[in-house]
Amino acid sequence: QEDVFKKVISHAKEYGFIFPSSEIYDGLSAVYDYGQNGAELKNNIKQYWWKAMVQLNENIVGIDSAILMHPTTWKASGHVDAFNDPLIDNKDSKKRFRADVLVEDYCAKIEDKENKEIEKAAKRFGDAFDKDQFVATNPKVLEYRARREAILSRLAKSLENEDLADVKALIEELEIADPDTGSKNWTDVRQFNLMFGTKLGASADSAMDLYLRPETAQGIFVNFLNVQKTSRHKLPFGIAQIGKAFRNEIVARQFIFRMREFEQMEMQFFVAPGTELEFYEKWKQTRLKWHLALGLGDENYRFHDHEKLAHYANAAADIEFNFPFGFKELEGIHSRTDFDLKAHEKYSGRKLQYFDPERNENYVPYVVETSVGLDRLFLALFSHCLRDEVLEDGSERTVLSLPPALAPVKAAILPLMKKDGLAEYAEKIFNDLKYDFNLFYEEKDAIGKRYRRQDAIGTPYCITIDHDSLIDHTVTIRDRDTMQQERVPVSELRRIIDEKTNF
Ligand code: ATP
Repeated sequence: QEDVFKKVISHAKEYGFIFPSSEIYDGLSAVYDYGQNGAELKNNIKQYWWKAMVQLNENIVGIDSAILMHPTTWKASGHVDAFNDPLIDNKDSKKRFRADVLVEDYCAKIEDKENKEIEKAAKRFGDAFDKDQFVATNPKVLEYRARREAILSRLAKSLENEDLADVKALIEELEIADPDTGSKNWTDVRQFNLMFGTKLGASADSAMDLYLRPETAQGIFVNFLNVQKTSRHKLPFGIAQIGKAFRNEIVARQFIFRMREFEQMEMQFFVAPGTELEFYEKWKQTRLKWHLALGLGDENYRFHDHEKLAHYANAAADIEFNFPFGFKELEGIHSRTDFDLKAHEKYSGRKLQYFDPERNENYVPYVVETSVGLDRLFLALFSHCLRDEVLEDGSERTVLSLPPALAPVKAAILPLMKKDGLAEYAEKIFNDLKYDFNLFYEEKDAIGKRYRRQDAIGTPYCITIDHDSLIDHTVTIRDRDTMQQERVPVSELRRIIDEKTNF
């Protein structure tokens, strides 16, 4: 399983899906960049979600609210008070959290030492310094790395097995163990806040403390009346949004599963008080169906109903997916009551009520939320669809069998060779189809090699142009999954690709 996950990470990098952020500076922990294929896949997932939520539901509209919000927003939402953070909502989580913090600190200290060794050596060797080689061979650095890995894997194991006794033991050990002196150095209980702070305004005394939003939901709540009044929707109705969220996650070591900057696709559904649990059930089922339609296998999804609820919820469940490291949360469905709107009323002094013409009364609506992590969905798709296959002739291929509608490239246009007018003919086909599909054009290398590269990024079709094409206006179209090749008229290409790759 660990190997599968490693393969996912290296494939994502090798084929232009995901790079560590600012990699030339050795990366930034738990922050990633999406490359040319990753950005396409991500955009397709967004579109697929947006269509299902906004376009197909007459009573859901989409917005795009700002990442920066008035700081009082986060007082009202409950995010500002450090340990009462709504993101940490029960005792076991606190224990987990504490262990995470200690391990992170311990590792940061060792990493510091490691970096000092590297700096020292870099100074000593000057231009001749080869960092990669130094890191791979220097005994001190290797020892530091081994120590970090040992403690990280112990923590990961005990969390994985929900071995809270070992988590507790780990906390006790680390609370007294300074990595150098073994002396107690954790006396000061550090205050944590998962929000990233920033400032608005140039001068030091007039600047206002702001936060980067840790969830997109609040941008919807504060706009509830703006949208309701201008869209003239009656309850029940929903507001959807896709956008970045930021959390200073303490344990962030599972690639894009837990990032410090990530994207959420959220929908807040506003309903009359007393009807929320009915809609909660409905959205649970609707969202599960949406996931199942992606075709990654029904057995890879399950609900996890929360027994312990966050302070704002009266019912909550996760849709979990079977990631390479086990079943983990992919999407949350929460019945958030009227907590958020009421809190915003209290802090803003503005009414956030709805006049219900049927009940003939004003009230603060109840809210059912569906919230899915875009990056987690990306990881679910990417890790599930990536496989190595042994072919009949004994050779191997790596294929990314993404749902064709989500594939970054829909078809590759491949002239068998550049000369004899094949390239010109292929370019003509490319130019004719490029308005409808994201295509890839390539004329270098043997055709088999080019097929393999397209398999590895999940391209549903490869279209090969050969000498016969010039005469009879037909081409060979190869299917990614079956590897079957068929001869088809050029005039049929648009229909064939569209049929396969349409949402
Ligand atoms: P977890 O328990 O895994 O930390 P959460 O319960 O804090 O998740 P929510 O606050 O419910 O998550 O956020 C909704 C969704 O946003 C999650 O289901 C997940 O898909 C996504 N998400 C949350 N935190 C992160 C993160 N750090 N990186 C990537 N996606 C995230």
